[in-house]
Amino acid sequence: MANYYRDGPPPERPTYHRDGPPPERRHIYDRDGRSPARPTHHRAGPPPQRPMRYRLGSTLDRVPRWVLLVGAALSVVLVATIIGWSVGWTAPAETASIIDPSESRGATEPPGPRVFPVLGDVTYGRTHHGYPATDILAPCGTVVVAVYSGVILEVNRVDRYNPAVNEGSSRGGLSVSLLGDDGVRYYGSHYSAINDNIQPGVRVAAGDPLGILGRTGDAAACHLHFGLSPPCSREGDWWIRRGTIWPWPYLDSWRAGENKDPLPEILQWHADNGCPAVPQVEP
Ligand SMILES: [Zn+2]
Repeated sequence: MANYYRDGPPPERPTYHRDGPPPERRHIYDRDGRSPARPTHHRAGPPPQRPMRYRLGSTLDRVPRWVLLVGAALSVVLVATIIGWSVGWTAPAETASIIDPSESRGATEPPGPRVFPVLGDVTYGRTHHGYPATDILAPCGTVVVAVYSGVILEVNRVDRYNPAVNEGSSRGGLSVSLLGDDGVRYYGSHYSAINDNIQPGVRVAAGDPLGILGRTGDAAACHLHFGLSPPCSREGDWWIRRGTIWPWPYLDSWRAGENKDPLPEILQWHADNGCPAVPQVEP
């Protein structure tokens, strides 16, 4: 820009203004009633409509005021939305960062009935060693599905269990933890494989396949260890995640096509116990 002015004014613009303001297009029409650009079309006189396009004020006068107000309001909303995106107000990063086809389905439709977590022929008892949970026995390779719609909290795809160490954190082998839309955490372990699309933050619907039943971790036979718990810290709290209330009454209900809700009992357990910082039953 400095050189531009040092050598004198640029040749185009001063010349343009020296001779007076540029003729406006509508003056071409108004001066003699003819448009030099389109002589045959406008021979009879100036066209009544086209010049209006170049007169913004006149155009706005013709637009109803409510249309202008709605347009202004939409502009404000758009700008606010863009600002919200830029600072991350609109959604938790956990769910916003992972897009899954089932996400919108689970978010917009009311949850259906709960689904028994293991397909096919199963057996299970009403006891479990150490703490409340249920071991659902079924043939190796049976499909495991989501009991309820919700968001995946944790997935462990690597079997790190070592019998010599026998740590509670790795005893489950391959596992999936799901936070149901009802507020209940549904946990299953000893999978032989977990579906590729099952990742933390992904939405699932009731009945969506999660993986394949197996015997990873501390498991002598193929079965699904099934636990119900409050979400608490959502991840890492294996001593809560593995189970806090007896699942079998609910499993009986879901297997019969009914929809018994574990949330009241979960809320009662949470009211009585909170979220313990260490295992209540050793180990
Ligand atoms: Zn178990």
